[in-house]
Amino acid sequence: MYYPRSWTKSILRLFIYIALIVLLGIYLENVTLVLLIATVSLIIFNYLHLYQLTKWLWESRKMSPPSAPGVWEHVYEGIYYLQRRNRNKRRNLGQLVKRFREGSEALPDAVVVVDKEAKIVWCNRHARIEMGLKWPDDSGRRIDNLIRHPKFIDYFHSGEYQYPIEIPAPTNPNKTFEYRIMAYGEDQLLLIVRDVSRVSQLEEMRKDFVANVSHELRTPLTVINGYLEVLTGDGDEQNPFVNKAMTEMGTQTKRMQALIEDLLILSRIEASAERIYENTIDMTAMLRQVETEAKTLNNEKQHNISFKVDNELRIFGVETEMRSACSNLIFNAIYYTPPGGNIKVIWKKRGNAACFAVVDNGDGIEDKHLRRLTERFYRVDKARSRKTGGSGLGLSIVKHVLNHHNSFLNIESKVGKGSEFSFILPPELIYENSLDS
Ligand code: ADP
Repeated sequence: MYYPRSWTKSILRLFIYIALIVLLGIYLENVTLVLLIATVSLIIFNYLHLYQLTKWLWESRKMSPPSAPGVWEHVYEGIYYLQRRNRNKRRNLGQLVKRFREGSEALPDAVVVVDKEAKIVWCNRHARIEMGLKWPDDSGRRIDNLIRHPKFIDYFHSGEYQYPIEIPAPTNPNKTFEYRIMAYGEDQLLLIVRDVSRVSQLEEMRKDFVANVSHELRTPLTVINGYLEVLTGDGDEQNPFVNKAMTEMGTQTKRMQALIEDLLILSRIEASAERIYENTIDMTAMLRQVETEAKTLNNEKQHNISFKVDNELRIFGVETEMRSACSNLIFNAIYYTPPGGNIKVIWKKRGNAACFAVVDNGDGIEDKHLRRLTERFYRVDKARSRKTGGSGLGLSIVKHVLNHHNSFLNIESKVGKGSEFSFILPPELIYENSLDS
């Protein structure tokens, strides 16, 4: 660290200079004139040094300052010290940028930095190879002009980057890329692109496998069930053990059939390419049918079920899917509420959106289970769920249906008090809103 020298020496020198001038003035018997000449000389001396300083700052290529006397030496040393400090800072910054670029080049993903106007600031080697960006030609070009996929454009302009998106690669439609955007520096965005073709292929294979197995199991099970019904129905069998076995086999076959049906529904929803804005759903009519089914199911438990339905509220969506979601929630409330409970089904407007809710006063669910309830085959009490005949796929189906309809399941539950399963459909799915625009 550099410390400026003491000013005392310079001030002392000035005093000696003035004292000598005054003494010379007394000796020549004209103090005023001698002082005037001395002052002018001092001004000229300082102006000359100012000139030298300006020349050094603006014209000289040399870093080291020229030699100068008195206070000027301090000034030069101060400027020289600042310059050296800035040069070190610049060097460190340069090294940091170099290290960042080297690190980004070594990444297995494509990385693109864009500014607040969506213009490309920098990209790594993988971005050039995988995304077909040309460097430096594409520097300063808008990223949304280069990646034209509508899903990417929507994602990029939405400003909501919590989740990545997957779309076909711009250079090869057989590849799937995952795009993830993150805020970076001041007003910049970091786009990270990863090849997830293998993962999505495996996911497709898994979906196909489940769908195919379920489909193939359906026919043999229908045959077995048919024969079992005939055999248990004719009442010829005298052996009580065989009778019991037949009835049990019939029950288990029906469970397996229900499970397969649920697996098929789930596969169909997962693979669904049906556009949700193409058809409207008459929710009143649909809920009326579900109400009839619920009442039949409720014969045994005799719950007090009330339906509060806004008859005017129609939505865009896929009717079979929405029906499956609503009936799963309502039937679950019937299954998991002790006899004589209260169940409320609500379908109403909430602001510009629509809200569906099923509220029961059943046993409720502990907090630790809530997060996992929509996983396939997740059950709070396995034995109890089996008794109800549940497949463990109901809430998973609900989750997928809602995801397809740009919504999500909200679960609130208190042990001993009851549960509320609800979802909100966004304003763009409300039919009435589409008439206003
Ligand atoms: P299942 O076929 O077992 O009913 P679901 O996916 O529909 O499968 O439900 C998962 C689990 O969530 C159920 O096993 C049950 O423990 C719990 N559950 C669902 N709905 C309710 C409810 N209304 N009240 C209490 N528990 C519920």
